[in-house]
Amino acid sequence: MDRANIVIIGGGVVGCAVARELSRRWSDVFLLEKMPRPGMGASTRNSGVIHSGIYYPTGSLKARLCVEGNRKLYEFCSAHAIPHRNCGKLVVANGAEQEAELERLAANGRANGVEGLQIVDRAAVRAREPHIEATAALAVPSTGILSAEDLVKGLARLAAEQGASVLTHAAVARLDPRADFIAVTLREGDPSESASVSEETVEARCVINCAGLFADEVAAMLGNRSYRIYPVRGEYCELVRSKSGLVKNLVYPMPDRGGLSLGVHLTKSLWGTVLVGPTADYIEDKNDYERNRLPVEEFVRRARPLLPELTAVDLQLAYSGIRAKLVPPGQKGYGDFVIARDSNVPRAIQLVGIESPGLTACLAIASHVATLVAEILD
Ligand SMILES: Cc1cc2nc3c(=O)[nH]c(=O)nc-3n(C[C@H](O)[C@H](O)[C@H](O)COP(=O)(O)OP(=O)(O)OC[C@H]3O[C@@H](n4cnc5c(N)ncnc54)[C@H](O)[C@@H]3O)c2cc1C
Repeated sequence: MDRANIVIIGGGVVGCAVARELSRRWSDVFLLEKMPRPGMGASTRNSGVIHSGIYYPTGSLKARLCVEGNRKLYEFCSAHAIPHRNCGKLVVANGAEQEAELERLAANGRANGVEGLQIVDRAAVRAREPHIEATAALAVPSTGILSAEDLVKGLARLAAEQGASVLTHAAVARLDPRADFIAVTLREGDPSESASVSEETVEARCVINCAGLFADEVAAMLGNRSYRIYPVRGEYCELVRSKSGLVKNLVYPMPDRGGLSLGVHLTKSLWGTVLVGPTADYIEDKNDYERNRLPVEEFVRRARPLLPELTAVDLQLAYSGIRAKLVPPGQKGYGDFVIARDSNVPRAIQLVGIESPGLTACLAIASHVATLVAEILD
């Protein structure tokens, strides 16, 4: 392998979706993932929710690609037997102030093209969720859940079947733009066995940065230092089995006003377990999933407004994931996805800040990337 049409850096759900989309149209597509398997980053450390698109500013990439991605994902999951369920969700309000916010959220969702939104009263909430405290809720029928692990595997398998080379233990170490190609230097092999690691260079006509949390570092390899990713950890607890009946489906609070997260929510998984979380806290180290984990009491405090019966003995700590935020700590606001050709190296495409709803949007992101690749290769 010394020449390629397309090198995709990062085998998360986005890189795999991009590889699957591009290998339908172009030959010599390489997907390079530094970990032993695709999808070991944010792509399998999330809530597994197929979002509807209600939250994001109208016209933003997040809004457009989430609404389009939602539809595409249901079609894809049905066609390829990826476990999923279109269960809908409730965003609950408590009191007049939150009810007014709920109306604004519904209006935003409708403006984004989300269908079937309906404000329901306390009785309707109780009929669906007998243990949830709310004066009203927004019912969102197009929300669902899926098995993120099966989605990543399915996309990677289809890409490989279409001729893409999916390489794991393949870490991109250097990018060197030349006149007609980008020289991509990768380290292949298990880094814990240094004798097995070898370096190789590939000449790529097009390079696509899908490196998730590390997308700023990959962009910097091309000389582009305009991005900085701030890692924000999201931790989860799980309800003990005997209490999983307290929650029937997906229940969300009003989203965090600062735009940092959707708030600690309750997610009934495909396997009948109930996740409580994720929290949202800036951290220093992009690889730090476990240090200084929050105690279960903190989850009780945050989730009790939704589920007043919850006590600390009902919870056990579960996994965590790390969001790739573009908004720095202390600065409130909204960061959109960045998906664009690099301004100095136009045969490179940068995908930066692909936080939630990146799982939902992955297939729509892949179509969008394909139009940019066509500008470069056709
Ligand atoms: C706590 C949490 C909850 C979330 N919940 C949801 C949800 O319910 N619904 C939803 O739609 N979205 C959700 N998201 C967002 C979603 O998980 C992400 O948007 C999505 O997984 C991003 O995928 P990715 O492929 O860009 O990133 P990643 O999965 O992080 O993949 C990037 C890959 O690049 C690889 N890589 C990095 N550098 C290199 C290199 N130099 N060489 C080779 N490979 C490299 C990494 O190893 C990694 O596998 C959540 C995210 C978090 C953290």
